[in-house]
Amino acid sequence: MAKQLKAIRGMNDLLPEQSPVWRYLEDKIKSVLGAYGYREIRMPVVESTALFQRGIGTATDIVEKEMYTFDDRNGDSMTLRPEATAGCVRAGLEHGLFHNQVQRLWTMGPMFRYERPQKGRYRQFHQVSVEAFGMNGPDIDAELILLTARLWRELGLLDHVRLELNTLGTLESRKAHREALVNYLRQYESELDEDSQRRLETNPLRILDSKNARTQEIVADAPSLMDYLDDESREHFETLQAMLDQAGVKYTLNPNLVRGLDYYGRTVFEWITTELGAQGTVCGGGRYDALIELLGGRPTPAIGFAMGLERLVLMLETLDLVPADVHQYVDASVVAVGDVGGYALSLSEQLRSRMPELKLQFNCGGGSFKSQMKKADRSGARYALIIGEDEMQAGEVTVKPLRHEAEQQRLDLDGLVALLQG
Ligand code: ATP
Ligand code: MG
Repeated sequence: MAKQLKAIRGMNDLLPEQSPVWRYLEDKIKSVLGAYGYREIRMPVVESTALFQRGIGTATDIVEKEMYTFDDRNGDSMTLRPEATAGCVRAGLEHGLFHNQVQRLWTMGPMFRYERPQKGRYRQFHQVSVEAFGMNGPDIDAELILLTARLWRELGLLDHVRLELNTLGTLESRKAHREALVNYLRQYESELDEDSQRRLETNPLRILDSKNARTQEIVADAPSLMDYLDDESREHFETLQAMLDQAGVKYTLNPNLVRGLDYYGRTVFEWITTELGAQGTVCGGGRYDALIELLGGRPTPAIGFAMGLERLVLMLETLDLVPADVHQYVDASVVAVGDVGGYALSLSEQLRSRMPELKLQFNCGGGSFKSQMKKADRSGARYALIIGEDEMQAGEVTVKPLRHEAEQQRLDLDGLVALLQG
């Protein structure tokens, strides 16, 4: 036998038993986004490498070591998208969506990062990414947070996540802080972890985010960005907090929350859970007012977030929050016995026309009454619709309930529709 090929490490198949949970989650997300007037945008999964180098920043984990980059046959460098924001901004600029306009957009799909696969961390994973353009004030920041809070509530997750909030100020305030931070960290340079030593030059703010224990100790006494905030950023942040307070959304301030990407400024936030071990961030985002200009557009205020669907699915499953009926894929199963195949098929078609929502499965290939009834039972159907020669002559069906105690009964099409709708 030929050697079987396997899926690529860190890239998962989604099997039929798992897909209903994903659809349940995706439908909830879409309906919440719809409730706030967000519109869908879809971009290609491949973009030019330069877009991510410029749009994410060369001194980030993603661009330094996580991208799937390759030359196409023409020798042009392409990259499988590691996130959606850069592509969304590229598309918005290309199609003139930003000029003098407000946009509320979302997109959903696979992202690719070359990371070490583990629970909640994969090489192909899925994000819903939500972006709002053209709005300056803290109210849109609050709206995005309220939207996510509503989603958690709808999914039953609100008690299992917490919101962390920070502000990164403006580029100018970060520059002043950066100088003080680097001066402070230099005193401990040899004690910092390797990544952080390197970042001292390239991206010192990210050192605040280090998971290394000694680095964390050192960082605890580092100069705080809060002391360097410009007045406008401070006011923006305070108004946001007041809005969240008024809406009853709980949060904790985390001055070390910086997010991985270069282009963030002002508001940043993460929703974190303790249910998933180390991979605890289910959603993260913030303001990126500088990005549109960086990618060749006019200055345009922007804020967005991305949530990881694998981690949310894991949470729903771990916490047993998936309604059982999402797994029901057959309502009724047609059992045709004897020489009645044509009649049974056409009756099934009529039934589907009358009840477009009905999930009706036909037992192709026939077989004995007993074996067909077994299949009907295994399908999870609530009813077996039995059709033999008797039924065919009378233009009827024998309906046998499979999930509750009740007599079976003979019905014509009208009677059958009435029963199934009831
Ligand atoms: P982490 O710190 O866990 O690496 P990140 O800061 O790299 O996260 P973002 O780029 O902010 O993550 O992506 C937003 C969300 O996408 C994360 O909060 C997480 O839920 C999800 N995510 C990111 N990387 C992965 C991955 N490799 N596998 C599964 N989900 C992921
Ligand atoms: Mg990461």
